Amino acid sequence: MSRDEMDEWLERLLRHERRAVAKLISRVEDDRGREEIMRSVRAHSGKSLVIGITGPPGVGKSSLVEALTHYYREKGERVGIAAVDPSSPYTGGAILGDRIRMQAHTTDRDVFIRSMGTRGHLGGVARSTADVLRILEAGGYGRLLLETVGVGQSEIEIMRLADTVVVVLNPGTGDGIQAIKAGIMEVADIFVVNKSDMPGAERMKNDIEMMLDLNGGAGPVRRPPVVLTSALQAAGIQELGEAIAGQQAFLRESGQIKIRRQVQLQRETWHCLEEKVRSLFDGAWPQIPQDLLEVGERDPFVLVEKVWAKMTGGRDDYER
Ligand code: GDP
Repeated sequence: MSRDEMDEWLERLLRHERRAVAKLISRVEDDRGREEIMRSVRAHSGKSLVIGITGPPGVGKSSLVEALTHYYREKGERVGIAAVDPSSPYTGGAILGDRIRMQAHTTDRDVFIRSMGTRGHLGGVARSTADVLRILEAGGYGRLLLETVGVGQSEIEIMRLADTVVVVLNPGTGDGIQAIKAGIMEVADIFVVNKSDMPGAERMKNDIEMMLDLNGGAGPVRRPPVVLTSALQAAGIQELGEAIAGQQAFLRESGQIKIRRQVQLQRETWHCLEEKVRSLFDGAWPQIPQDLLEVGERDPFVLVEKVWAKMTGGRDDYER
């Protein structure tokens, strides 16, 4: 793509042309002109807050994303969705596309859904996800939703891109306790007990409240509200929407958003640095150059020093 062509696509993106959103997302994901595209896109994004939806498989995340999409569409908002499966090598919609029960919205031009998998390493997918969200925003999809498939370490890393993390649990399954143990507690801004049409929802809510009481001092800046929903019966969705609005108003009014953005930039910078280091090995990470191995050195720390010296042309700025 020539510079002129790229500028043309960027202009079309800012005119909110759907085709431009798709075009630029795939170019950025394929790393063709990524830096230039993102430099322009970044100037037209960053205002929207990202709502992340996470929780164990089967709790109803996709159903809630659909219900929230409906809620925001009723308000006239345009919705951009990134669905990330960090354990899947596929990208572009093939795998997650059929997971997402978004039939009602597939013909809605004001909803854009992008499914993403991992390409090689987590830092890469985190960075791609951040790029996709920005392109969606610049393309006029101002209400941003980010969904992950599970609650592993990779999902938590992806959730750090969100400004509002909604952790979804179910009544009586014991999933709640597990998810909280997995470290999701620290990143949760809002807890949702979905499937509240099933027995034990109130009890689950109380369990979560009790855990929040115990973690009071060291917990997040704002105590996460616990909301009961039934995506199936479209119940509690308005309450969830209000809880999200409340948390986002808090982020803006308290100045917390500035801190979050700084932390996000820091992580993103690390991800970029990681990719840059990988690229020094021509993508053959974590291959150590053969000539270094052949000298018979067995200590990996010594090897790191040697690799580093080789990469930086013999200079070791690190030590100076
Ligand atoms: P995900 O894996 O977390 O994205 O969960 P899904 O949205 O795919 O939902 C998993 C299953 O739970 C599906 O069969 C849904 O129909 C069902 N489900 C989702 N929300 C509710 C709910 O509020 N109540 C009940 N009873 N079932 C639900």
